[in-house]
Amino acid sequence: MATVRASCAGCGDVELTTRDVQVQVCTATEEGTYSFVCPNCRLMVNKPAEPRVIELLVSAGVRVVNWDLPAELYEPKLGPPISYDDLLAFHFELNAEGWFDQVIAGGGHLAN
Ligand SMILES: [Zn+2]
Repeated sequence: MATVRASCAGCGDVELTTRDVQVQVCTATEEGTYSFVCPNCRLMVNKPAEPRVIELLVSAGVRVVNWDLPAELYEPKLGPPISYDDLLAFHFELNAEGWFDQVIAGGGHLAN
């Protein structure tokens, strides 16, 4: 098993095996990071990495996890962004008596 030298912010250079390291690649942007638990301080270390570093780690046998951006990012956005006034109005609506009954009666919307 190959040895991987990495660096922990608190401990400096540490030596790991390929089994101790995991690569994460975003399927949308193809940006990669790698992570490991520091053998000295036991804290999780997560670092961005250039594609050539990711390729090296993967070719050495490091496990790869692909992940995607949250589906909400692809949803169409309609209307103006929520403002502080909207948030305040929502807060007052939630403090009002029977707000939940209003939501049920309004089919999921608060009636004004
Ligand atoms: Zn450490």
